[in-house]
Amino acid sequence: LTDGPAERSEMGVPPDEVWGRAALRFGERSLTYGALSGAAGAVAARVAGAGRVAVWATPELETAVAVAGALLAGVAAVPLNPKSGGKELAHIVSDSAPAAVLTAPGAELPPELAHLTRIEVDAGARAASGAVGDGAACDGDPALVVYTSGTTGPPKGAVIPRRALAATLDALADAWQWTGDDVLVQGLPLFHVHGLVLGVLGPLRRGGSVRHLGRFSTEGVARELNDGATMLFGVPTMYHRIAEALPDDPGLAKALGRARLLVSGSAALPVHDHERILAATGRRVIERYGMTETLMNTSVRADGEPRAGTVGVPLPGVELRLVEDDGTELTALDGESVGEIQVRGPNLFTEYLNRPDATAAAFTADGWFRTGDMAVREADGYVRIVGRKATDLIKSGGYKIGAGEIENALLEHPGVREAAVTGEPDPDLGERIVAWIVPADPGSPPALEELAGHVARRLAPHKRPRVVRYLDALPRNDMGKIMKRALVADA
Ligand code: ATP
Ligand code: MG
Repeated sequence: LTDGPAERSEMGVPPDEVWGRAALRFGERSLTYGALSGAAGAVAARVAGAGRVAVWATPELETAVAVAGALLAGVAAVPLNPKSGGKELAHIVSDSAPAAVLTAPGAELPPELAHLTRIEVDAGARAASGAVGDGAACDGDPALVVYTSGTTGPPKGAVIPRRALAATLDALADAWQWTGDDVLVQGLPLFHVHGLVLGVLGPLRRGGSVRHLGRFSTEGVARELNDGATMLFGVPTMYHRIAEALPDDPGLAKALGRARLLVSGSAALPVHDHERILAATGRRVIERYGMTETLMNTSVRADGEPRAGTVGVPLPGVELRLVEDDGTELTALDGESVGEIQVRGPNLFTEYLNRPDATAAAFTADGWFRTGDMAVREADGYVRIVGRKATDLIKSGGYKIGAGEIENALLEHPGVREAAVTGEPDPDLGERIVAWIVPADPGSPPALEELAGHVARRLAPHKRPRVVRYLDALPRNDMGKIMKRALVADA
């Protein structure tokens, strides 16, 4: 990937000394930088001149080669979720109108893709060096169209320009001090920003390498960290599984202790899991906050001090402000004043595909992106996300209450395995707080009075739940995010 004709970056063809180094190791298969360059070059030669190409995002090795090839050719890649159902997939395909679909040889594709030209990615191919030029691609050209996770509504296609990829990866490389010696282990899907942009293109930006687990497992994480991996990226459900496994697995604690960086994102990491991992390993998980539309917004530097429940400070180049409903900017670092996070910078997307109204509504007149996420800022400037404006802010008894801190309090109760908090209409309070609980022991779930008392002892009394509902599992999407829409719809 280059930043355009004027300025070639380190993301272009790597210098000779890294040619033989490992770039990708996905399961039993691996590619050196030389092999990746050859295979991506072969893809680039096939797709050159196409407007957009879809990428069937499994298996991970071919996905990575396909995206690298499209980037090399200056063609926008649209990663497709292999698990998304017929209707959603059909929408994404008609919305993004790709010229072809890139897949692994022999891959079986669903009927929604049958009409597309199929291009098979040969991970062993070797393009002649210099066979493909990318001089036509400019900073503002689309690099990727990534569909949002669909947590709050149907997924929207965010058009991500080449400059945003470069800006976000350089900001992370700076904050997290990436080097060519870094080896990332991850088990994320490659059709979202987290797994693909951070988790594949990220380490490659500085000549490091990526090992993909295929499927996340604590055993796989321990194995790779013991075998030289220096960083782990994951979503909170993965760190939760690690926190649960640690008491019975001293080997896992030792392996995590070896990592240079443990990073969580895509949703809030529960404080309880952060603290359990800290207690068992002596390591704090770094949280980073970002989204499909803005790539990465905030984090903590590798040499900084991660703090449970916070996502750090704006990354280099990112402007961030908190804004009240009436448009007033909040400047107080008081840990209390809640405003919407708005972001500006080279990391931003350009538009939602085919959604001019949604795009216009998402930006202020002076170019700030309205994230829809609410936050406070603490004394040292650290951002603490309170939740999403649409689903996590409960207006009860004249107070604005964030679901997140109540969820964190509930998760500290030994009888609670998973917790989600929503508001529902109440004649006296405006909204009342509802706790959705997956009990640790379904045979004896903790009662409402017990949970309300537990919360009221930790937080202000008006933050106690008034209703409790028990579930076998919370509805989550493929990034492990709690689908509060589905909860409320089922009520
Ligand atoms: P949709 O926009 O389709 O409803 P989505 O917002 O979940 O789905 P993404 O772009 O994948 O789609 O996710 C970005 C969102 O994830 C952010 O707006 C924020 O709400 C949440 N998020 C990401 N990182 C964090 C974090 N560290 N802490 C809390 N929330 C986070
Ligand atoms: Mg969103």
